[in-house]
Amino acid sequence: MNENSRTKRIQKIGFDPTRLETESVTGCNLCGGSVFCAIAWTDRYDYPVQSNLCLTCGLIFLSPRLTAAEYARFYDGIYRPLVSAYHGRVIDAVTVEEEQQEYTSNLIRFLMPHLSAKNIRTMLDVGGSTGVIAAGLKEAIGCEGVVLDPSPPELERAEQRGLRTICALIEDDDLASEGPFDFVCLCQTIDHLLDVRGALVSIRNLLSEDGFFYVDFVDFETIAARTARIEGAIKIDHPYYFTRDTIEAYLRQTGFTIVAMMVMPDGHHVGYLCRGGEPAPGSVGLQPFAGEQYRRIRTIQAAAGNSG
Ligand SMILES: [Zn+2]
Repeated sequence: MNENSRTKRIQKIGFDPTRLETESVTGCNLCGGSVFCAIAWTDRYDYPVQSNLCLTCGLIFLSPRLTAAEYARFYDGIYRPLVSAYHGRVIDAVTVEEEQQEYTSNLIRFLMPHLSAKNIRTMLDVGGSTGVIAAGLKEAIGCEGVVLDPSPPELERAEQRGLRTICALIEDDDLASEGPFDFVCLCQTIDHLLDVRGALVSIRNLLSEDGFFYVDFVDFETIAARTARIEGAIKIDHPYYFTRDTIEAYLRQTGFTIVAMMVMPDGHHVGYLCRGGEPAPGSVGLQPFAGEQYRRIRTIQAAAGNSG
């Protein structure tokens, strides 16, 4: 990939986050800590966004970050052209659906040995967009399929697939009356949320007593190692960056017990199948991990040399 032409393509979009409204994160969403180390000052698009490492638990997140209203505008018109410019090929509703078909068949291969003998009558896909994943799972499991998403045009397509739809964000709506669901999934979405804890608590409340939850995330360490620089793993559309330690702490704290785990064929999406459990104090003992995470980041930065 020619870096010059990529830079030009991104510049052509004319998106300037410095002119938008931002907010600072004062408390860590995972542990509540307030002492952070700023670890990077730009993202992979070269936008001047700041990434921070929580020195208490090791969570990595953007701060300052765009407000919810600015992110909504970003997803409305900038996001897909930006990702297309970055990769140098058109990424739109059609290509995304093709990728999601492949993703869905891998997900079904992983899930079915665990779910096939269970009595799953209802499933909910949180942030499920046009319903490709929900339609695939609905057919494989043989249950009712529901998609929750904030985008009306995307939900319209989901309805055409025979899915029930809920137009909402998982973090900020009172959705208790919509459940319970025997299976809930949060696919390729958690990295884009503004309140991960709030979303997981909402999902836990929507789960039936013997229900299952599937969540995946982009492994920060894999991407940073692959691109050989921290900035290569940072993108303005991801307020959070997870590792095995931080995601498992979130799951423990919000009342999930891990049943199985998988690394997707792309090598950087990591997924968990969970059941509902009792919330446990999940960030206890994470401080050594935060120290380790700091040293790993510094090792990557040392190897990257003085790149700017
Ligand atoms: Zn923390």
